[in-house]
Amino acid sequence: MKITKNARAVLERRYLTRDTHGQLTETVEGLFRRVADAIAAADLNYNSAADVLTTADRFYNMMTELDFLPNSPTLMNAGRPLGQLSACFVLPIPDSMEAIFDGVKNAALIHKSGGGTGFSFSRLRMQGASVNSTGGVASGPVSFMKVFNAATEAVKQGGTRRGANMGILRVDHPDIMSFITCKNDKNELTNFNISVGITEAFMKAVESGSPYNLIDPGTQEITGQLDAKEVFDTIVTSAWQTGEPGIIFLDRLNSNNVVPGQGEIEATNPCGEQPLLPYESCNLGSINLVNHLKLENGCYVLDTDKLAKTIHDAVHFLDNVIDANVYPLDEIERVTKLTRKIGLGVMGFADMLLKLGIPYNSHEGVALGGRIMEMVNTIGHEASMELAEIRGAFPLFEESIFKEGKPLRNATVTTIAPNGTLSIIAGVSSGIEPVFAYAYIRNVMDNTHLIEINETLKARLTDENLYSDQIMEEVAEHGTLADSSALPEALKKVFVCAHDVSPSWHVKMQAEFQKHTDNAVSKTVNFSNTATKQDVAEVYQLAYSLGCKGTTIYRDGSRDGQVLNIGKVN
Ligand code: UDP
Repeated sequence: MKITKNARAVLERRYLTRDTHGQLTETVEGLFRRVADAIAAADLNYNSAADVLTTADRFYNMMTELDFLPNSPTLMNAGRPLGQLSACFVLPIPDSMEAIFDGVKNAALIHKSGGGTGFSFSRLRMQGASVNSTGGVASGPVSFMKVFNAATEAVKQGGTRRGANMGILRVDHPDIMSFITCKNDKNELTNFNISVGITEAFMKAVESGSPYNLIDPGTQEITGQLDAKEVFDTIVTSAWQTGEPGIIFLDRLNSNNVVPGQGEIEATNPCGEQPLLPYESCNLGSINLVNHLKLENGCYVLDTDKLAKTIHDAVHFLDNVIDANVYPLDEIERVTKLTRKIGLGVMGFADMLLKLGIPYNSHEGVALGGRIMEMVNTIGHEASMELAEIRGAFPLFEESIFKEGKPLRNATVTTIAPNGTLSIIAGVSSGIEPVFAYAYIRNVMDNTHLIEINETLKARLTDENLYSDQIMEEVAEHGTLADSSALPEALKKVFVCAHDVSPSWHVKMQAEFQKHTDNAVSKTVNFSNTATKQDVAEVYQLAYSLGCKGTTIYRDGSRDGQVLNIGKVN
């Protein structure tokens, strides 16, 4: 199997099985065989005579060729005693002491198994409200988030991966101002991403410059008003300073809620791409687009036949994961199997554009993104319908918004995940992000540093006799090709990095993918260090007007220990 040195390092460090002395007990190929066999075996639930060996080989080849990879917990745990295969969970946080601490316990169990948890804290009473049973006063959502944070710190995912949390608070919760700034101290809530749950009413109030109502989550009474523009500006200032909070558009999540009768969607998984109902979980997987090109008359073109086949196999694989999964709680198993959500997405999109010679920040690039994702979504749904014919529709289909149409096996099929680790394993650009830098240092897990040089650039420069150590050093120092006088303009136009792409192109690309994605799109809009608060505000407005489900921004250098860095290792 052909994988990069970095990929091997990541797999050996956390994914391959070890004995009690810490010695490796499987090879990289052995890992993919273990996963393929465990996931293919789920076919027997539907057909006792299923040709599991052939299916397992298909799954094995799809993974070892790096055409498709399932999310990290599946790679780590399939075919092993822990058996927890999903990346994404949402847990409810009802307003009682027992329920909050049940939530802490359940989150700890999920983290231990490699999953990430999202919570809405919007149901908790505001700071200073009375506590009937004790006559005391409530400490508010942010104080309880700190309890979850401390628990996550202690668990550290039992040696698999660090716990990740998403904390969401509705913009009309009375404690919203302290929530927005709760991560301004960089030592606070380090195991949380936070997002403000934005409503349409709030956005209208921002536009018209009017106040909006704060609502007591218990009584639903109005407790006061805030100036919407001031709150919006506080969100922007905080995000400009620290990268957080992000925003999510709650009404949009709910307009795509497949089973509204089951209640509102209030939260997403940690990186924001997977909105879920309380106790729902979801497993993700990504198709490596770089591997779905073929040469025609010396030029790369999309290999649509291969892509269609991979989509079919990937949907089959991800549906099987739901059955092969060992769930951390009975309630999660019950709720997950009612909708059977899966999240198929893509990675290596930017690398694919480089091979096609299309700039990321161009109408052509955005249009191609839309066409590819439309294909993944359409064929993904067809594959789910074909599965439904054999295996039955997801159990809540008859009460779903799709009930008049053809039965689907999965209430949602597509999601664009960040692919933080999968992209390293596949050796391609992550998700739909532009190439971050053409040579850079990545801080992964426990301060390990990896140096990455973009393979497509290396090959192209070599082809054109432009490759030299001096040029690569310059690129490593700046991250971008833009400053290199030795490189031709035509090449620099295509080989753009995240910081060469203006924030509005980042949002346009996200919005185009969102049009064809059931769930949400993980995307970070990168700003240079010199960007202004107004620049950030404009991006939030653009994300809203172009139909994104949320957005996350990051201004270079605004946080210590950022994951991606431009420059050389000292
Ligand atoms: N996730 C997590 N801990 C981590 C990284 C990711 O719990 O350290 C979860 C989280 O729900 C995130 C999802 O996995 O939104 C997908 O992340 P990513 O695509 O980066 O995971 P990968 O499969 O590449 O490891």
